[in-house]
Order: sequence, then structure tokens, then C-alpha cells
Amino acid sequence: MSDVSPSAARVACLALDTLEARRIADVLAESLDPEAVVVSTFEASDGCWPLTLHFREPPDEANIRELVALAAGTAHADALTFETLAPTDWVKTSLEGLKPVDAGRFVVFGAHDRTRIAVNRVGIEIEAGLAFGTGHHGSTRGCLLALERIVKGRRPARGALDIGTGTGVLAIAAAKSLRKPVLATDIDLRAVRTARDNARLNRVAGLIEITRAANLGVRRIRMRAPFALVLANILLAPLRQLAGPMTRLVAPGGHIVLSGLLRAQETAVLGAYLPHGLALARRVPLEGWVTLVLTRRTRRRL
Ligand code: SAH
Repeated sequence: MSDVSPSAARVACLALDTLEARRIADVLAESLDPEAVVVSTFEASDGCWPLTLHFREPPDEANIRELVALAAGTAHADALTFETLAPTDWVKTSLEGLKPVDAGRFVVFGAHDRTRIAVNRVGIEIEAGLAFGTGHHGSTRGCLLALERIVKGRRPARGALDIGTGTGVLAIAAAKSLRKPVLATDIDLRAVRTARDNARLNRVAGLIEITRAANLGVRRIRMRAPFALVLANILLAPLRQLAGPMTRLVAPGGHIVLSGLLRAQETAVLGAYLPHGLALARRVPLEGWVTLVLTRRTRRRL
């Protein structure tokens, strides 16, 4: 997802109502390669639900139109618009017209809504810049809902690790709700800078350390392990590769929250993680994406 979004050059959009948008988003998400296209839908300020496809490479527009015709009918296929966005500003631009995102007690918002957030919510203000994570994506929202359930249960005694922090949205949510130190990493230096700015903006810079890391073997991560909670919203392929090293970073009884997965990919990711002594605790399906909460067993099963 991340690989796709900040550098996305081509975007296709449709304006729909809620149910239609969710149904069509599910069909498209399952038909398209998640490494190449991100399908998203969210409520815009006019009450409409734009459905957007972000392409990593310029798509074959006729093919995409055909697929939309199959999923949504020819009227929608004809209404589909393609545009090329400057890679520097699409996330920012899209935030400006968007409503705050509710995810349980969390609410993710842009600066324009700062004065409208109820005081009893955990507010996360995001300036997206060049990073992914405005909260509008089903995978981010799924992680926030999973985090809320974890915090409502027994409050973790140790800190958290957020792998692929993007804007820092999950790290900020974890720091604000756990009141424990959070280590956040990203492979993309632009995301690291954006996340640092957002941590300051949300007054949790003292709790969050953000570092660039391409793998989980780096000293900073090893020194801070074991974590009570690991969050990783980064797509199937890297998640599968990281199964062993990620499990070793979690304290027994601790949780791993995995997202960035299409529902059809759930079995593959469980196949990679469960053999490492993890149990599936919860799943949060949202808009064609699924977030999985795994718990590290206190003792390995023989
Ligand atoms: N955590 C945010 C952002 C998710 S986008 C949210 O939930 O909204 C995924 C982010 O992961 C991107 O910023 C991308 O640069 C980063 N990423 C992708 N693969 C990674 C890897 N193997 N290790 C660390 N970060 C990775």
C-alpha cells in the first residue's frame, strides 16, 4: 500500500453512495493486484462516497473501465475519471476535503477540523505530507479499532512497535492510549520525517522514537524488545517475510496487529504466522481489507 500511495501517479475516481461504494470496492480489491493498485473509499464532506483507485504504474484504462463495468455496471464505468496527480500533494489535497475519521474512541482529523473534535475522543491530527496514513483507509481504521480493543482489555505493561509508520498515525494512537514508549519505523525517509512532525503536532514526541529501518534486525529495535504490542500495516508480501523476526520481538502474551491485507490473503498470512506460536485473537474486516490480531502464546504448543 505504502509503496503505492505516496508515489501514485494515476488515480481513477467514482462518486457513489455508501453501500454501493463498499460493495464495488470489495469486488475491485479482490480482482486487482494489491501490490499495484490500492482501492479506497471514504465519506467526503458532501456525504458522497468517492471510490478511488491509486495505481503504482499507469494503468491500462480500457481494462480498468471493463473491470468497473463488470463490478458496477456500464454507467459507472463510463463515469470513471482518470487523472494524474503530482506525487507531492495528493495525500494532502485529499485530506482537505475529508471528514474526520472515527475509529472507536479514536478520531483522525486534519488541521481544518481541529476545533471540532469532542474532548472525550482521542484525537490524532495528521498532516499527511508525503506519507500514507490519513486514517481513511480500511486497513488503518482496522488497526485503530484493534488497538482500541487491546487497550480496553488488560493495559499492556510494555511499549509498542509500529512497523511501517507512514504518517505516524498508529504510533500516535498507541502512545496516546497506552501512555507507554512507542518505537516507530519506516523504510521511507519521507515518512519518518512526516511522522516526527506529526508526533510533535500531537504532543507525544517524548513518547515516540521514529527511525528509518529496512528490516527488524536493527539494533534500535532489538534493544527495545520485547514489545507488548507490534503494529504492522504493510501488505502481504513483507508481512509474510517478517513473520519469524516479528514474533521474536513480541513478549509472551503480547499482541501483533497485522493489516494491509485483502480478505482473500488472510489464510496466507495466518499460514505464515501461526506456526511461530501465535493464536488468532480477533479479525476486523473493513471495506475489503482485514486486520488480524494475533496473540503470542505464553508457552509453545508441543
Ligand atoms: N501505519 C500507517 C501507514 C501504513 S502505509 C497506517 O496504518 O496508515 C505502509 C508504510 O509502511 C509506508 O509508509 C511504507 O513506506 C512502509 N513500509 C513498507 N514496507 C516496509 C517494511 N518492510 N519495513 C518498514 N516499513 C515498511
